[in-house]
Amino acid sequence: MSFDTFVVVDWSGASKPSPAKPSKDAIWIGVAREKGVEASYHRTRHDAIETLAALFEAERAAGRRVVAGFDFPFAYPKEFTQALTGSSDPLRLWRALSERVEDAPDNANNRFQVAAELNDLFPGVGPFWGCPETFADPRLPTRGTQREGHGLPERRACDGTPGAQPVWKLYTTGSVGSQALLGIPRLQALRTRFGDDIAVRPFESREAPITLVELFPSLIARTVAELAEPDEIKDRAQVRILAGALRALDPQRLDAMTREGDAKEGWILGLGHEDALIAAARRAFPQPSELAMPSDPESPLLPPRLRDDCFAMPQGVAWVPVDEALAKLQGALRPVTGTTTIATARAAGRVLAEDVAAKRSNPPMPNSAVDGYGFAHATTGSGVQRLPLVAGRAAAGQPYPHAVPAGQAVRILTGAILPEGVDTVVLEEDTNTDGTTVVFDGPIKPRANTRKDGEDVAAGAPALTKGQRLRAPDLALASALGIAELPVHRTLRVGVLSTGDEIIASPELPAAPHKIWDANRPMLLSLAQGWHYEPVDLGHVGDDAEEIAERLHEGAREADVILTSGGASAGDEDHVSALLRARGTLSSWRIALKPGRPLALAMWEGVPVFGLPGNPVAALVCALVFARPALSLMSGAGWTAPQGFTVPAAFGKRKKPGRREYLRARLNAEGAAEVFGSEGSGRISGLSWADGLVELPDEEMNVTPGTPVRYIPYASFGLI
Ligand code: AMP
Ligand code: MG
Repeated sequence: MSFDTFVVVDWSGASKPSPAKPSKDAIWIGVAREKGVEASYHRTRHDAIETLAALFEAERAAGRRVVAGFDFPFAYPKEFTQALTGSSDPLRLWRALSERVEDAPDNANNRFQVAAELNDLFPGVGPFWGCPETFADPRLPTRGTQREGHGLPERRACDGTPGAQPVWKLYTTGSVGSQALLGIPRLQALRTRFGDDIAVRPFESREAPITLVELFPSLIARTVAELAEPDEIKDRAQVRILAGALRALDPQRLDAMTREGDAKEGWILGLGHEDALIAAARRAFPQPSELAMPSDPESPLLPPRLRDDCFAMPQGVAWVPVDEALAKLQGALRPVTGTTTIATARAAGRVLAEDVAAKRSNPPMPNSAVDGYGFAHATTGSGVQRLPLVAGRAAAGQPYPHAVPAGQAVRILTGAILPEGVDTVVLEEDTNTDGTTVVFDGPIKPRANTRKDGEDVAAGAPALTKGQRLRAPDLALASALGIAELPVHRTLRVGVLSTGDEIIASPELPAAPHKIWDANRPMLLSLAQGWHYEPVDLGHVGDDAEEIAERLHEGAREADVILTSGGASAGDEDHVSALLRARGTLSSWRIALKPGRPLALAMWEGVPVFGLPGNPVAALVCALVFARPALSLMSGAGWTAPQGFTVPAAFGKRKKPGRREYLRARLNAEGAAEVFGSEGSGRISGLSWADGLVELPDEEMNVTPGTPVRYIPYASFGLI
C-alpha cells in the first residue's frame, strides 16, 4: 500500500493555550502532499485535532490515503495494559484512558489527577511521577527516584533508543508521559469519529484510508537542524522536514515500517531505519550549499563526529598548565555545524562558511569625493583659472547626461559619477562663481578630489573571509559589493544544565534555607547568547545519575555541545563526573588554574560535555578561558584568544608558583587595575563588580602597585 498525504504532528502536554505568536513547545502539524510541504501552528490540542479531522475528511473524500505520525507513545509496557484492562491490547487501554482523562478546549486537564489514581492501582509508589509543587497528592511522587515497588518495567522495548523518555514521566522537559496521557484520548476520539477508516499501526494491520503511527522526530534531530531554515522554530522544522522525508521514502518501505514492532507495546516508526530517513530528508530538502561545497574531509559541511576519546589526557599528569590544556582542547575539536545561506541583512553574528568575493566594484564608476566643479585637467594650468559652466549639474543618483566640452566645467556634488570629459574636481570652498563661470587658483593636481572605480574593492576581489564572524561593518561591505546572501554556518546550539540537590531553578521566595538559587544557568545561557550561539536551556536536575543521564540524552539531541555546572569534581557528591566516568568517556583535567577545580570533559552520544565547576566564580572563569575558544572552534569561527592589555597594578599580591590565576578586576580612574577585595570563589558579587580579569602567569610573581599586569576586559571575552 502507498500513501498520498504525509502528516507529522509535534504534540504538546501544555495546560494552557500556547502563545498567540507561533512558538516552540506547542503543537505543530506538518503536511506533505505530492507537491509542497506546509506547517501549521496550533495553540490548543482541541484546535489541532479539529484541523486534523477536517484534513482526514477532505483526504478521505478525495480518495487519498493518509499516514499521520504523532510524537508520543501509543502504548505502555504491556504489564500496565494488562493490569488496567485485563487484556494486552493497547487499544483497550486507549478506551480506558479516554474514560478517565478530561481535556478542555483551552488545554485545562486532569492528567496529574488521573496519574495519581492510576498509581493507586499498583503497590508501592509509582509508576507515574512528576508534577508541579502546587499539585500535592502523595500518590504522585515529584521525583523518579522516589518511586519503589510498583512492579512495572521502566520502558517499552522501543524506548531504549537514546533520548526516548519513559512513559511514566509527567513533568518538566521531555515529559512524554503527559503527552501520551493527553494524546491517546484525542486519537481515540478520532477513532470513534472515523470508525474503520482509521487503522492504528502496528496494533491493527488492516488497510484503511487513514493510518496512525507513533514517531520520534529526535531520531533525525541533527539532520533536521541542518536542513532547517535559518532561525526556524525547531518544532516547525521537525514536522516539516519529517513529513517531507516520509514522502521521499520508498512507498513499500514506509508501509513495511508502519507494520514493524510489537502489537502489544507499539513501536517508533523508523527505528533502525534512521539512515534511510536521513537520506530521504536530504532528498526532500536538497541544500544549495551542499552542492557548492568541496568534498574535503575537513569541510565543515557534514558535521564530523568527534571521537569519544578525543579528550583523553596522558595518565599520571599531576597538573596540566593552562596553555597545554588549551592546546590539547584545540587539537581535540572541530567545526560541527553545517552550512546554510542567509540574507546579508540578517547575518550579523553568524560565521561565514566560505570566502566571498565582490560582485561589483566599489565604487562602480569614477565619482566625485566632494561638492565642487569638475573639468578636464589637461585644459587647466597655473594661475587664476576661469572656466565657463555648462548648464545643469551632476549629483549622486543623477548623472550628467552629456559630455563636458574641453575648457568648460560642470557643477558636481559628492558621489556623482564623473561626466564624460571630467577627470578632476576643484573643491567648492576654493572657488568663486557668478553662476556662468567658475574661478579658482591653479594648478590643481590631476584627478584631485575624485575616486577611481574599484579603488575600494574591485569586482571579483576577496571581500570577506571564511570563518569570520560577521559584524555590522562586514554587512556594510557585503551590501556595498552587491552580495545579497551569505553562506554561513548553522548557529551552534549550546545546552546548559545545572546540577545539585541544593539548587532551585528560579529566584523566588520563599526558599528553604538549605536551598540556593541557580546562578550559573542564567549566566551560562547569557554567555552563549552573547557569543551568538543558540542557548538551549536544559534546566536543572538534582544529584541523581538517572536524571542527569536523561537530561544529557535530551541535550545531545537538542544541542551541539553541553555545558554543565556542579558535581564535576571527584568527590562523593560529584554526580556528573561519576556518571560520565561510568560511561567511560570522561577525562578529568586537573588544570593548574585558580579559581577552578578539575574540568570534566566528556563525550556524550557524540556531543562534547564541559563539566564546569559549580562555583559561579570558577564556572565563569572556566567558561571564559576554556569553553569560549572551544565553542568558537566548533561553530566554524576558529580558535580564539582574548585580547589583553598591560596596565599598572593598583594592588599588591605575592603570587605563588604553579598555577595561573585570574583575579576579578576593573580599571580605576588612572587606568590601573584594581582587584576585588576577596579572592573567595563563592563571592559572586565580585564577578558583578568586575569589568574584567587580571591574568597572573603560571610562575611566581610579586605584584606591588605599579607592577605591569595583564588585564583582559570582559568585552575581550565577548561578554556582554
Ligand atoms: P559543586 O561543584 O557541585 O561541588 O558545587 C560547588 C559550589 O557551587 C557549591 O557550594 C554549590 O552549592 C555551588 N553551586 C553549584 N551549582 C550552582 C549553581 N547553579 N548556582 C549557584 N551555585 C552553585
Ligand atoms: Mg553539587
